[in-house]
Amino acid sequence: MNQTRPIAIASLLALVVTPIPAGQNAHDAAANAPTPDQAWLMLREGNARFASGNVENPNSDAARRAEVAEGQHPFAVILSCSDSRVPTERLFDRGIGDLFVIRVAGNVSDTDEVGTIEYGAGHLHSPLVVVMGHTSCGAVKAVATGAEVHGSIPGLVDNIIPAVEWVRKNRPGLAGDELINASIEANVWRSIDDLFTESEEVRGLVQSNKLKVVGAVYDLASGKVRWLGEHPYQDRLLTRPIGIETPHAQNAPEPSAPQPMLTPAAPMPTEQAHQDEKPMKPNPTNSTSPTHKTADAPTHGGGHDPHR
Ligand SMILES: [Zn+2]
Repeated sequence: MNQTRPIAIASLLALVVTPIPAGQNAHDAAANAPTPDQAWLMLREGNARFASGNVENPNSDAARRAEVAEGQHPFAVILSCSDSRVPTERLFDRGIGDLFVIRVAGNVSDTDEVGTIEYGAGHLHSPLVVVMGHTSCGAVKAVATGAEVHGSIPGLVDNIIPAVEWVRKNRPGLAGDELINASIEANVWRSIDDLFTESEEVRGLVQSNKLKVVGAVYDLASGKVRWLGEHPYQDRLLTRPIGIETPHAQNAPEPSAPQPMLTPAAPMPTEQAHQDEKPMKPNPTNSTSPTHKTADAPTHGGGHDPHR
């Protein structure tokens, strides 16, 4: 056995996902960026290090600061909650210039958040967008429990209301923590739905396989990210004409598709344009919904962390 071979392969894989050197133009940056699955694997590996207490704290020194001062090429866009217990870079064990992070209570996709995601994915060429909710989310809990909110908060939680309403309608037996947990996951799907609804640019990037958009839920106690994968209705969301639905409207039209065909954890099928299509077929014998079909590690793409 040639003992140099593993090293050669590792070097090759490292080369594939080598971060973009500062100063390169956008064309070069796009050509050398990791693929969506490689970027996803880097996050999975980082979260595994964080949850196990074996963090490497990469890209956090003066040399890295000097490097990224010349330009940023984050490999993932993360939309997560402002909750102080969800420190995004830390929970993925990443450093400076690695992640393009949007944090807003309830990880909602409203105009400013969508515009920021477009900047990260479109202008900075990040190949991966993660919409990440978390356990015990106060914003979702406030909606699920009917808490009274004041000031500007009603304008924030109106993005979350449809998710909770969907859970109440489609999983009527849930209450308490079960209702809140289901709403947290539904809110992730809703946020991705809103992103696709609002952003033609994001749709185009996904359709051309330059970008992947996945959901996730972070567990405050374990430190582990539970990956939900791509939106199970993504194909339909990508082909839905822009503007056919007002996603934040209180009276958004409900689908006429048979509700029993929906899985418990399925997203809100908000569109009307394709309601005659059959939703994804649930598997009644498996509590894991189709939304978890990509929860395992991506099966290809080097996945070697370039920042170790
Ligand atoms: Zn939260």
